[in-house]
Amino acid sequence: KADVAMYHAKERGRNNYQFYSSEMDEVAYERLVMENHLRHALDRNEFILYYQPQIAVEGGRVTAVETLLRWQHPERGLVAPGEFISLLEESGLIVPVGKWVLKTSCQQGRAWYDAGTPVRVAVNLSVRQFKHPGLVADVAEILAESGLPPELLELELTESMFMDSATGDVNKLTQLKALGVSLAIDDFGSGASSLAYLKDFPVDTLKICQSFVLNLPHNNDDSAIASAVLGLAQAMNFTSVAEGVENAQQADFLRERRCDYFQGFLFSKPLPVDELNQLLNGSKLQDN
Ligand code: C2E
Ligand code: MG
Ligand code: MG
Ligand code: MG
Repeated sequence: KADVAMYHAKERGRNNYQFYSSEMDEVAYERLVMENHLRHALDRNEFILYYQPQIAVEGGRVTAVETLLRWQHPERGLVAPGEFISLLEESGLIVPVGKWVLKTSCQQGRAWYDAGTPVRVAVNLSVRQFKHPGLVADVAEILAESGLPPELLELELTESMFMDSATGDVNKLTQLKALGVSLAIDDFGSGASSLAYLKDFPVDTLKICQSFVLNLPHNNDDSAIASAVLGLAQAMNFTSVAEGVENAQQADFLRERRCDYFQGFLFSKPLPVDELNQLLNGSKLQDN
């Protein structure tokens, strides 16, 4: 990063050093301001959850949704997680915020269940949250308090959680599984991990990273990787979800290779809860 800043500084001509340092100050200052805002965002009810449908390839119904965090900033409007998740991680704020996400998702999941439109709710866990010693107890407590049937909760993990300090993590995954929830690996194939862990860990779902879906079916390498992941999922009996499905060609390619679920703009972008309710009620009506 410093190299990039230095490069820009040089590009902009004389007075390099001064420019370089003031640019760095500005970035650091921006982050500090943002972090201070984030510290109060939970108390001020500035976080909102959006939900993106996952469509069963067979039957075409919405059977699950992924919870995606948004920050309703007083001046900047709706902010996407790419702009603040890393700050939440670095500051440790992700632990309370992540707990709020889990709790709100489970309460919402229970409301859908009560309304006769049960959908599984998939919630992203960050590394810091996963490593937090209270995680398993928190999930257990939230399930009990919300009354969400555990099979309607899926936790989305990243490959790194399976890779470092292996033994502690197996225990944690086993404890989470024992609560009755399912475990997904998010952005599968994008991390630096071996495949061996798939044998040893209680994983249910592989979510194919959207970078492999983006250029289907034209890019040979991406096609090969997507096919291999779907083959692996079938052979090892994992549920497969393709993320970032934006067009019919991608969907056809994935369907032909027996992908189980689609998630992407072709079907729906992430929606606020009232819009998702309309969608769920619509699919219930069609069903009758
Ligand atoms: P992710 O978990 O891999 O979520 C999928 C991202 O892809 C979402 O971005 C979603 O809006 C986007 N997406 C879905 N369909 C399409 C599509 O067809 N095309 C394209 N181009 N994008 C699509 P979003 O909501 O900006 O979230 C980004 C990342 O932030 C998530 O990636 C996840 O890693 C993280 N995140 C979001 N909410 C939470 C949360 O509550 N907790 C934690 N720890 N991380 C979260
Ligand atoms: Mg995810
Ligand atoms: Mg993903
Ligand atoms: Mg299968």
